[in-house]
Parts: sequence; structure tokens; C-alpha cells
Amino acid sequence: MKFGGFVPCTLIDYPGKTACIVYTIGCNFRCPYCHNPELVNETVERTFSESRIFTFLESRRGVIDGVVITGGEPTMHGQDLLLFMRRVKERGFLVKLDTNGTNPNLLEVAISQNLVDYVAMDVKAPLSTYHRVVGRPVDIGAIRRSIDTLLSSGVPYEFRTTVVKTLLSPEDLEGIAREIAGASRYYLQKFVSSTILNPQFKRKVEYTDVELEAFRSNAEKYVAFCGIR
Ligand code: SF4
Repeated sequence: MKFGGFVPCTLIDYPGKTACIVYTIGCNFRCPYCHNPELVNETVERTFSESRIFTFLESRRGVIDGVVITGGEPTMHGQDLLLFMRRVKERGFLVKLDTNGTNPNLLEVAISQNLVDYVAMDVKAPLSTYHRVVGRPVDIGAIRRSIDTLLSSGVPYEFRTTVVKTLLSPEDLEGIAREIAGASRYYLQKFVSSTILNPQFKRKVEYTDVELEAFRSNAEKYVAFCGIR
């Protein structure tokens, strides 16, 4: 596999672990708030080979616990991704997978073959209105299956939602929490429009901290823990 990005060390992307991050190229969604357009549009200028990642890992043995695989959407890489995960595990490192949940088959194989140690799955909207947020036709049955797989598999996981006011109403946020009812960990990710000049516009796209806290506390009617990032 070739990767479109690489970060040698993160303390925040894999809960409780030190990790490096690899970014896969390509995505089957077009979320308007995406921070990685060059990966999604496959216009990355620099790529990183698997062998380079493994050489790096060997040099950090004992310092780094694992590898975060994010994108883009990693599961689009099918067997190549499974092979990469297996090679990481064989070298004794942990694997965290970030996914948009569109490939429950791969998720189930990765979990059943013990190729993944932590999964972070985006739940982008209530299932009935998913297409509005992701900008592409979406197989809702696949998203539902990925949610159910994580709820029942025993592998550590989190669900997470990027909260953009113009895309998700308070009712939508409650709807998402209801659809992942029983989850152990759920995060509301604050959408920050840092480069926006006009504060009026900022108020249109960002919820206030008080509003987010109300959503967080409401979500805990359905899930064991809800945090804000
Ligand atoms: S699923 Fe993730 S990588 Fe793909 S467009 Fe949405 S935010 Fe970007």
C-alpha cells in the first residue's frame, strides 16, 4: 500500500497510546467539512511506502505503541489494508482503525482475525438523512451493520460525530445518539471554522460550548459516556 500522509508521533489520536499515523488515499464520501481534500480527491503530491513505515516502526520500537490508520477511507483498500494491518500486528504494534463505516465486511474480518485493537467510527447523521451530510449515495444498511458490529464485537471502539450547525439540528444529534444506544464511548467533535473572518457566519456554522454541553449530557441518556473534543 502507498499512503498519502504520515505523522511520526501522536499522543492524542489513539486513546492512552503513543502512535504514528498513516493516511490512506481516496474516500467514498464527500463531507463538506473534510480536512483532507487532497486525500479524498487523490491529489496528494507525496506518498509513503509500506517499507518506509516499517523501517520507521523498527526504529521506534519501545517508544511507539501502535499505528493509527486513517484517511480518506482506509477500508476502500480491502485486502491491501488487511495485509498491512496483519504486517503491523506481526511486528508487535497495535492497530487503530478510523473508518466511515461503509465496509462492514472488512470490519468484521479485521475484528475476527484480531487485526485491529481499537476502532473509531464516524456516525455522520441520523441514518434516514445520511446522504445530506456525506455528499454521496450511501448504503445505510452497511452503516447500520458496522454500528452493530462494534456494539457487539468486544473490540474497544468509539463512535464520533463532527457537529456542524448547518448540517445537524439538535433533533438530529439526539437521533444519532439513539441509533448508537448502548455504546460505551461517543464523542461530539466540535467543528471549528478557525479561518472564518465573519463572526456572524461563525455563529451560523458552530454551536456554542453551552449548546454542545447540552447535547453531550442528552446523549448520555443513550450511551455510557459522551465526550466533547
Ligand atoms: S469520510 Fe472522512 S475522509 Fe471522507 S470525505 Fe468525509 S471527513 Fe473526509
